[in-house]
Amino acid sequence: MKTAEAVTLVAARLAAAGIEEPRREARILLAAALQTDAAGLLACDDIDEAIFAPLLARREAREPLAYILGQREFWGLTFATSTATLIPRPDSETLIEAAMATFPDPRKIRRILDLGTGTGCLLLAALHEFPEAFGTGVDLSPAAAALAQTNAARLGFSQRAAFLTGSWADALCGQFDLILSNPPYIPAADLIGLMPEVKNYEPASALDGGADGLAAYRAIITALPALLAPNGAAILEFGIGQLDEVVELIENAGFIATARADLAGHPRALIIRAK
Ligand code: GLN
Repeated sequence: MKTAEAVTLVAARLAAAGIEEPRREARILLAAALQTDAAGLLACDDIDEAIFAPLLARREAREPLAYILGQREFWGLTFATSTATLIPRPDSETLIEAAMATFPDPRKIRRILDLGTGTGCLLLAALHEFPEAFGTGVDLSPAAAALAQTNAARLGFSQRAAFLTGSWADALCGQFDLILSNPPYIPAADLIGLMPEVKNYEPASALDGGADGLAAYRAIITALPALLAPNGAAILEFGIGQLDEVVELIENAGFIATARADLAGHPRALIIRAK
């Protein structure tokens, strides 16, 4: 069939499966199935359904596009994805913007830590912006730490990044100028209500923030006095509705918290500094 026909067919199936941007995703899936790009897809005029049927079936089952494609863009960089890690989200780019605004002289940042590194997206995007820095990424999951290492190598950061398996800061010593984390922050009872892509495919360990969603913040904030270098800052992502509770944890630990909003205007990151 012709490209236009294939796009219409795939988009209709995706729409029926409840997918929000069916035509956009149809083009992406078809290009991936044909191992081409958007321009290459337009040039195809004989597309056999057998070529795209397997990928379409996976997306109809609500498997995330990033797992099907095996990659996702974050901060203009391409990250390999796997079901061992959360898929990088545009919202988390707020942490990189916040880091750049907090440290206007990027060459002064020498040591960066990313707690719960997943794909390594936060750490590697930060290394891209802070050219003198060395980065340490920690994840409880060995498969996640290994994927982050792969991403570091693919993006040319092998010499500037190390990845460890461990629970938050337990495996660490030393101090860091910039600490980043997008910890799991969904209250455990809310996981069941998440969209199928997230609930059925992304790792619960990357999402589950314990009974009140704040367990990871408690662990991280407790570790901050030992981890944060003088004049350093920690920047944490948090969920909608959690601002006041997370600020309270930070202030009770003797730090100052400043919120930064994402592109939609929601407060999304907290910048934490010593008093
Ligand atoms: N740091 C990774 C990210 O922002 C993983 C976060 C997580 O697993 N909660 O995508």
